[in-house]
Amino acid sequence: MQVITTCAEMSRLSWAAERPLGLVPTMGALHEGHLSLVRQARTDSAAMAASIFVNPTQFGPNEDFATYPRSLERDLELLQAEGADLVFVPPPHEVYPDGFDTWVEPGSIAEGMEGAARPGHFRGVATVVAKLFTIIRPDRAYFGQKDGQQVAVIRKMNADLNLGVDVVTMPTIREPDGLALSSRNAYLSAEERETAPAVYRALCAAEDIWRRGERDAGRIQRAAHNILSREPLIDAVDYVSTVDAETMQPLETVPDHRPVMIAIAVRLGPVRLIDNVVLG
Ligand code: AMP
Repeated sequence: MQVITTCAEMSRLSWAAERPLGLVPTMGALHEGHLSLVRQARTDSAAMAASIFVNPTQFGPNEDFATYPRSLERDLELLQAEGADLVFVPPPHEVYPDGFDTWVEPGSIAEGMEGAARPGHFRGVATVVAKLFTIIRPDRAYFGQKDGQQVAVIRKMNADLNLGVDVVTMPTIREPDGLALSSRNAYLSAEERETAPAVYRALCAAEDIWRRGERDAGRIQRAAHNILSREPLIDAVDYVSTVDAETMQPLETVPDHRPVMIAIAVRLGPVRLIDNVVLG
């Protein structure tokens, strides 16, 4: 496994790598969610690359960029054990040198939900992923459904800009009690950790009434709100949204012939938890 810190060297080695080349972009602090992507990339590809880059441009000024969990040594051990060939770990100035001033600005797909709660977030995500795709030129890149709007934004950018990468979406990996794995779960206190699975329970309650025939998005969302409102430690429900799973546009009625995503974001102590289910 080679660990690379410069864009030039990463491009050179990716160019020389066997094909197909699979890429798993991450911000590190790896857990089983990330590793499920890595394993699929390894299975599908002749060569496998991962990136570990806590991307400053996707964090807002009052967000946790400085304190985001970092565990590079352990991450590299895990990637080595999974059979990664190339790991790209650039310092911030390598990705954003002085004078960097060109951005990928997603459109309406990035306006709601996380885009509304975190202005500029998806501009940072789309820009860094476009750069990774350009530096590494992977045949396939793997993303988690856990960040459902993120993968939709990346799919749309990849199509709109003809980047030519096969974008693969992988299912959300959860704790046995339903909590979606996330690097930020480490910030939760014991009590908050006990509350956290309410988010997935709320999604399941929404999915359940849809399964029983409900198609009105307001009523479906209310089923989720009812679960969340019983949890005193949840400080705020940022949103419960019913959206077209491809375009991220809000829906009033759940159609029968298009994939639909129900997404939730809540604030629980120091953490914003996000999760979603795709109906069907
Ligand atoms: P991050 O390091 O948080 O930027 O995540 C890197 C990739 O791992 C993204 O594509 C995430 O959607 C994915 N990921 C994070 N958590 C999970 C999870 N619990 N299950 C599946 N994929 C995940």
